[in-house]
Amino acid sequence: MSFVSHVECTICGAAHDAKRLLTVCEKCGQMLAVRYDLARVASSVTKSALRQRAAGMYRFRELTPLDEAEPPVTLGEGGTPLLDLPRLAAHFGIRKIWGKDEGQNPTGSFKARGLGMALTRARTLGARGFVIPSAGNAGGAAAVYAARCGLPCVVIVPRGTPPAAVAEAQIAGAHVFTIEGSIATAGRVVSRVAPLLGWFDLSTLKEPYRLEGKKTIGLELAEQLDWRMPEVLLYPTGGGTGLVGIPKGYEELRAMGWLSGPLPRFFAVQADGCAPVVKAFASGAETTTAWDNPTTHAAGLRVPSPFAGRQMLRLLRETGGGAVAVDETAIQEAQRLVARTEGIWTAPESAALVAALARLKDGGEVARDAEVMLILTGAGLKYAPPPLAPPTDLAGTEEEVVAQVRRAVGA
Ligand SMILES: *Cc1c(COP(=O)(O)O)cnc(C)c1O
Ligand SMILES: [Zn+2]
Repeated sequence: MSFVSHVECTICGAAHDAKRLLTVCEKCGQMLAVRYDLARVASSVTKSALRQRAAGMYRFRELTPLDEAEPPVTLGEGGTPLLDLPRLAAHFGIRKIWGKDEGQNPTGSFKARGLGMALTRARTLGARGFVIPSAGNAGGAAAVYAARCGLPCVVIVPRGTPPAAVAEAQIAGAHVFTIEGSIATAGRVVSRVAPLLGWFDLSTLKEPYRLEGKKTIGLELAEQLDWRMPEVLLYPTGGGTGLVGIPKGYEELRAMGWLSGPLPRFFAVQADGCAPVVKAFASGAETTTAWDNPTTHAAGLRVPSPFAGRQMLRLLRETGGGAVAVDETAIQEAQRLVARTEGIWTAPESAALVAALARLKDGGEVARDAEVMLILTGAGLKYAPPPLAPPTDLAGTEEEVVAQVRRAVGA
């Protein structure tokens, strides 16, 4: 017995049968979301019972769409640390900064949560194979979970996608293709190929299960902050699964009476070379319009026309947040800053948050006494290393080499 009541359209509200393999709203074509009988969840589990459970995303089993005995397709996703970042906070003169280190997930990014959940549920509901357009990490994650449950997977990524993510999909046995253009081009091909193969289309938010995995970031954050929410939350925004999923998790806990108070002010962070959400936010538009010629080395942010633009913009406005774009140099500098100050080699997407925070602080949008949450979505290791200077090569006798190290360190 699961706690799911139904699946609902986020725009027109049409109810859908949760026992069927669903994609988008059958009435209006918009994004669907899983709804739960939250009163029944609240009377079935307590905070102290939760504390006894194993770490990881299935710790919140009652708030997942899985049937009671349904085995998850899992590699141990979730349960990532919430790190206090005091040296970064001191650097910016902000009272508190936390980083949720999603780079410690299997596959090195938070995509493991969404795709682990999506493949689990879609397989149970009858999917016999998967097709996904991706900027990199989602394709890698889909491929490894498909391997884990023995089903085939097609991954289509733009040319120039970070090589580690492509290799990850290949080594897991997926059929991997590159294409000129962006994830949008790949998405159009996927939408035609998936029905021909009879395989399930995993495009961002065009099915309701991936979101339930992403949502668990919000559930974990609530527990890790001892059942409260931060004031400000920055999210590196491509397709926006976290901007839809994290508040969904918070709202569900609030409806259960486990959390109170306002949602954090959510900020979408994008790159100057692809900022459809920032542009729509600034112009007061209700939804995004396609971004021409998207370019950024932060591959996960290269999403020119996110499907859930409307839902994201609504959240940013309702919570008193905003949207900020940063340039490529600022992203690279921020990546080094986080590594130098806190020892975290984070992905360029999440480094963009730190560059954005500097701007928000300078502009007075984030106050000195604020408490700020950064969703560090991926590990820097999954990207080609940034152009650092080569390390000094030690050569000579052992004595000379030792002296060389002392001189260089200056200690
Ligand atoms: C996919 C991805 C993002 C963007 O996430 P969305 O949910 O698509 O907005 C950010 N960072 C990394 C590392 C990613 O892989
Ligand atoms: Zn609808």
